[in-house]
Amino acid sequence: GAKQAGGHHWGFYDEGTLQAAQRDTHLEAALRGALERGELELHYQPLRDLQHNVTVGFEALLRWQPPGGPVPPPEVVRVAEERGLIMALDVWVLRRAAAQVRRWRQDGHDWFVTVNVSALHFAHGDFVSHVRAALDEHDLPGEALVLELTEGALLSDFDSSVADLQRLAAWGVRVALDDFGTGYSSLNYLRRLPVHLVKIDKAFVLSMREEGHAFVQAITVLAHGLNIAVVAEGLEEPWQVEAVSALGVDLGQGFVLGPPAPGHAPARSGEQRPVPAQVSGA
Ligand code: C2E
Ligand code: MG
Ligand code: MG
Ligand code: MG
Repeated sequence: GAKQAGGHHWGFYDEGTLQAAQRDTHLEAALRGALERGELELHYQPLRDLQHNVTVGFEALLRWQPPGGPVPPPEVVRVAEERGLIMALDVWVLRRAAAQVRRWRQDGHDWFVTVNVSALHFAHGDFVSHVRAALDEHDLPGEALVLELTEGALLSDFDSSVADLQRLAAWGVRVALDDFGTGYSSLNYLRRLPVHLVKIDKAFVLSMREEGHAFVQAITVLAHGLNIAVVAEGLEEPWQVEAVSALGVDLGQGFVLGPPAPGHAPARSGEQRPVPAQVSGA
């Protein structure tokens, strides 16, 4: 019973757990250093307007290549969340993406950039002011920025999420629900949240020849009925582009339309100073 669990199994670490913890500690130190030295990168993947066949924006995706080899973004985010670095990381991403979209605009493109926001950062009281600061730093209109949030991030405190999203919307900042359809209760709250885009998870695109077709169709009809635009993620093959376009999906993203690629190197004058990890409340 409870006694036995307490006596025998609590606090017991097998070798695998210990190794994983040591690896995370190593990653944490390396990530801290990378943030301070400005060694992280963002790549940018195009979002294509499928009805007009033009690129309208890019998703910023984290890339980190320490000497041991690249670390997948979800793992970077997990370690950062568990080790108190997520605020510093997310703020770095926001500022870096803002600098990039500023350069595109100076070059005459009116593309937006989308930035993935971790649930912990969104829930933090300073989130909205971090967004404001990133816009101000690069003199950007809110329309230049789209924030990608997951259902989990929005649902943990619904009322305060709505208030934050309304402030962002007042500045013109749009919000996309990422990985849509993979969470729990997508439909009812969609009506009550001021979101502008839903990104249909790539799992549905992958199964477009089976049940995925019905899901993409239903999500598209529902979203359009609520004045929300639809993005299909994970488009790898031309037939998938055809299929989602035929269903009225607004935007597409995937390897077949363009893989994530480096942006411009930051201009010397506008170069972003690295953010010390301790500055951002980590
Ligand atoms: P996500 O936001 O859903 O990003 C889309 C992922 O799909 C990216 O993986 C992208 O490289 C990948 N992808 C793009 N086209 C295709 C395709 O045609 N087929 C397939 N199979 N995959 C495709 P990536 O870059 O490895 O990022 C994984 C996840 O890590 C992201 O999923 C996001 O949740 C998180 N992430 C990435 N960058 C950041 C960041 O800067 N901040 C935060 N907080 N999270 C990030
Ligand atoms: Mg995303
Ligand atoms: Mg996604
Ligand atoms: Mg995803």
